[in-house]
Amino acid sequence: MDTILLLAHVDPDGSLAKPAREALTAATSLKAALAGSTLCVGLVGAEVQAAADTVAACGAERFVGVAGAAFAQSRYATDALAAEAICRETGATLILAAGTSRWCRTLPGVAHRLGGRADTHVTGLPVADGAVSITRWYYRQRMEATIRRTHRPWVILIDPGCLDPWEGTAGEAPVRLIDVQPPAGCVRTAVSGFLAPAADAQTIRPDADLLFVAGAGWTKVQADGKAHVPEAADLILTFLRQTQASLGGSKSLVDLSGEGQSVLPFMTHLNQVGQTGATPRHPKGLAACCHGEEPHVVGWRFISERRAINLDPNCGWARGKADVVYVADAFAVMAKVNALLAEKAST
Ligand SMILES: Cc1cc2nc3c(=O)[nH]c(=O)nc-3n(C[C@H](O)[C@H](O)[C@H](O)COP(=O)(O)OP(=O)(O)OC[C@H]3O[C@@H](n4cnc5c(N)ncnc54)[C@H](O)[C@@H]3O)c2cc1C
Repeated sequence: MDTILLLAHVDPDGSLAKPAREALTAATSLKAALAGSTLCVGLVGAEVQAAADTVAACGAERFVGVAGAAFAQSRYATDALAAEAICRETGATLILAAGTSRWCRTLPGVAHRLGGRADTHVTGLPVADGAVSITRWYYRQRMEATIRRTHRPWVILIDPGCLDPWEGTAGEAPVRLIDVQPPAGCVRTAVSGFLAPAADAQTIRPDADLLFVAGAGWTKVQADGKAHVPEAADLILTFLRQTQASLGGSKSLVDLSGEGQSVLPFMTHLNQVGQTGATPRHPKGLAACCHGEEPHVVGWRFISERRAINLDPNCGWARGKADVVYVADAFAVMAKVNALLAEKAST
């Protein structure tokens, strides 16, 4: 009989972010699949009642929280104290949480304090014959493993973007608050602020429906014997503005930026997709002026529908890596696409 605990940190505005609600989907599915199991929700933050009320209908038997100014910010010492207190209070055997930077930093340590085990980067929790497994990927998403553990408590950190966020009606979910008083040594670290690019300079949008990936071809000499980098930048930014797509880049392109060449000014190493870059999750992806080489394409593992535009009919995409390949000049295609999008927006 497992006691399932969904552990979540509450956003500054008192809400539960999408990754937390995705983890709640996993927790409710697990409860439905494991006969006799119970579900608890544990919340950490400055205030937790409003967040609990938003998930009142999730089927949890108990709502437990640790609240107060000391628990508002992401800080290992206080987050670990709060999570440990909630786990002990609920006697949870399966502890599920979103794989946010805040929990990834804290919960493996909490598992150690509880004498438990922790697994990170979990992408699914299949149940067969009454036993829970987890799935996760290895070697930059090339191999998928299914793992079972009999050891409890088991802390499971679920990668954001793998599940649909829990949706349901709000209600009243009285939270039992645990009094946790952090000792002075636990509050030495203070978050002094956030540094983030201006909203219009932010090109990485994990929640976007579409990932647009630019390759080094945008900076290469074109049929007229010249490079057209400013035009490339304009086409890409116009497309991003009109579609709110997220922007990725190939390694070759982001490396060019680092080497001070004439390149796309908004492209950084954070945009890089692939074996040595990110593995984003979006329903659709469009690559333009990018060759589709294996170390790049491995980052497209979780893109559901992949399309590419390349002048080369023998590029990597054309050899089975994309669902649709447009053998065409990306400058011409994107100019037309932008014009169609503008036309659509104006009607
Ligand atoms: C260990 C290792 C790890 C790596 N990790 C990564 C990684 O994480 N991510 C990554 O991206 N790469 C990675 N690479 C590099 C990878 O192998 C490729 O070299 C790189 O992805 C190529 O980038 P690209 O396709 O943008 O550039 P190129 O190979 O230069 O291709 C440019 C493409 O643009 C096309 N093109 C040019 N003009 C146009 C036009 N007008 N219209 C349409 N198409 C046009 C050309 O036909 C060409 O196919 C790694 C390599 C190694 C060895």
